[in-house]
Amino acid sequence: MAVLAVRVWPDPVLSRVAEPVTESAAARGLAADMLDTMYHAQGRGLAAPQVGVSLRVFVMDATWKEGTPAPQVFVNPVIVSRSDVMATGPEGCLSIPGITTAIARATAIRLRWTDLDGIGQEADLTGFDAICAQHEIDHLDGIVTLDRLSPEARAKAEAEYLA
Ligand code: ZN
Repeated sequence: MAVLAVRVWPDPVLSRVAEPVTESAAARGLAADMLDTMYHAQGRGLAAPQVGVSLRVFVMDATWKEGTPAPQVFVNPVIVSRSDVMATGPEGCLSIPGITTAIARATAIRLRWTDLDGIGQEADLTGFDAICAQHEIDHLDGIVTLDRLSPEARAKAEAEYLA
């Protein structure tokens, strides 16, 4: 268990498409370190590329700040379907500290992944979980919030970030 350094944009690892995990159990140590790192950074979600590891793993805990920790680990996650209903809300990112950006996301998704025992899982996510999972899977595809903004909004966000 260890707190890892969080890579900040524009670190090139954040723009790389992450590789699939071939053996889930091998990701156990990484996932534990990622959860430590996420809690330490006061975050609710963290993807492996954010700690410099280009593998398809993310962790999430929507409720720990309210006093009920519920750590979840997603290996090789795939969005099977997404709702047509979209909502735009402010998103922060531990790799782009200090700013939030307004991002449109599907309000509900069906997610398929493998757990650390190598067992396939599938669930419908809504609310914060759905938005967070989409944000983290973007990281696995080398996409950050800035990439989802209009050119004008991106220029404004980058200026704010770099200021
Ligand atoms: Zn992020």
